[in-house]
Amino acid sequence: MRRLRRAKIIATLGPASISVNMIQKLFLAGADVFRINMSHASHDSMREQVSMIREVESKVGRPIGIMVDLQGPKLRLDTFADGAVMLEKGQKFILDANKQPGNSERVHLPHPEILAALEPGHVILIDDGKVRLRVVEATKTRAVTVVEVAGKASNRKGVSLPDTTIPVSAMTEKDRSDLEASLAVGIDWIAVSFVQRPEDVAEVRKIARGRALVLSKIEKPQAITRLDEIIELSDALMVARGDLGVELPMEKVPGLQKRITRTARRMGKPVVIATQMLESMITSPVPTRAEVSDVATAVFDGADAIMLSAESAAGQFPEEAVSTMNRIAEEVESDPIYRSIITNQRAKAEATGADAIAMATRDIAETLDLKAIVAWTTSGATSLRIARERPEAPVLTLTPNISTARRLAIAWGIHAIVTEDAHDVDDMANRAAQIAGSEGFAKSAERIIIVAGVPFGTPGATNMVRIAYAP
Ligand code: PEP
Repeated sequence: MRRLRRAKIIATLGPASISVNMIQKLFLAGADVFRINMSHASHDSMREQVSMIREVESKVGRPIGIMVDLQGPKLRLDTFADGAVMLEKGQKFILDANKQPGNSERVHLPHPEILAALEPGHVILIDDGKVRLRVVEATKTRAVTVVEVAGKASNRKGVSLPDTTIPVSAMTEKDRSDLEASLAVGIDWIAVSFVQRPEDVAEVRKIARGRALVLSKIEKPQAITRLDEIIELSDALMVARGDLGVELPMEKVPGLQKRITRTARRMGKPVVIATQMLESMITSPVPTRAEVSDVATAVFDGADAIMLSAESAAGQFPEEAVSTMNRIAEEVESDPIYRSIITNQRAKAEATGADAIAMATRDIAETLDLKAIVAWTTSGATSLRIARERPEAPVLTLTPNISTARRLAIAWGIHAIVTEDAHDVDDMANRAAQIAGSEGFAKSAERIIIVAGVPFGTPGATNMVRIAYAP
């Protein structure tokens, strides 16, 4: 089974979709990767979802990626004596270290390190920005604020701090335990929430030790200021537009989406566009025209993957949401304007052997109208450098590692097949040509181009290009 589009689809699982039957339906409708959100899943539920996905994978005979999304340091208010208070514009309101239930003058903020980091002038947003406070006086245990946007503050509502670099790691105790539990069952991608600095990514990499790849969710303004360093250390990125649009003015999100997508593409790291892509499909079988346009924009920009959250996790039409994304991506990619936009935004090859070969391969495939680029890869790195070129010819990846095939499910245009490593150069060419034929990429006597590294099975040894005929 072969997808007819290059952009990949990630579907979040939840009450609307956690069953083998529904996961299979979502895969057949177009989902390439499933996301398990640890803000809502217990360890048992996570393990159950992983085993359901693996069951579907063996039924459909295609590698499926699994992404576990860690909750991260979500900050919350403590409780109020009456459950909630109404805050009026212009009034003073205090966040402090006093554990007594709150009232309309003050409330406990159960994060001493945050109280210590607040400074006069900083903005504090409550409940995804519905209430806005500005700090006017700050000590280590108390921040006096003025209410700038009035509204209700209630028990345990979320707190966002767009101006404050939070002096804690992006990993909480819960995240560490969720990470260990997920690595133990062999997941493919770890998504790290609220990354602020490169060190946050390094910390997760150190624990993961290659057992899963690390995706950084870009949702804090602090991450934007160190974007290149964060991308350098990450295996992939997500434009997490939900929290990004709370921490920064919403109107800045589209420009940042383009900037993050372009930077990730230039650095050859997969980039995912996420949140509210087909939001109205939570309750409606058809999307709004604006949502269709939003999905199309991400595909025109050459994003590696587009993601569904509540639409597939908790909505009434999970299957329709995936098939709608699938249809939009297929249509965009067959539009003549698509190719010219993708080509214009192509980044120059870096001065490495792998990039020079990737660029030359794309060029040869275009010049000779070859039917597929076939890459032999152990780690997946060669295929990602070819995908970075966004070639017109489809990219078929042959790997002996099932985990490489699953990880590549997130990446633009890559169709991965697990097969034993090539024994010699003839075996490399013959098997590549035969699989290109059997997977429907080339008809008999049509030509393909093969990229490999000799000695076989050595990561980073990309050094060979060969043209072959499908049998
Ligand atoms: C987001 O904020 O856009 C996001 C994807 O993260 P979460 O769904 O975990 O809030």
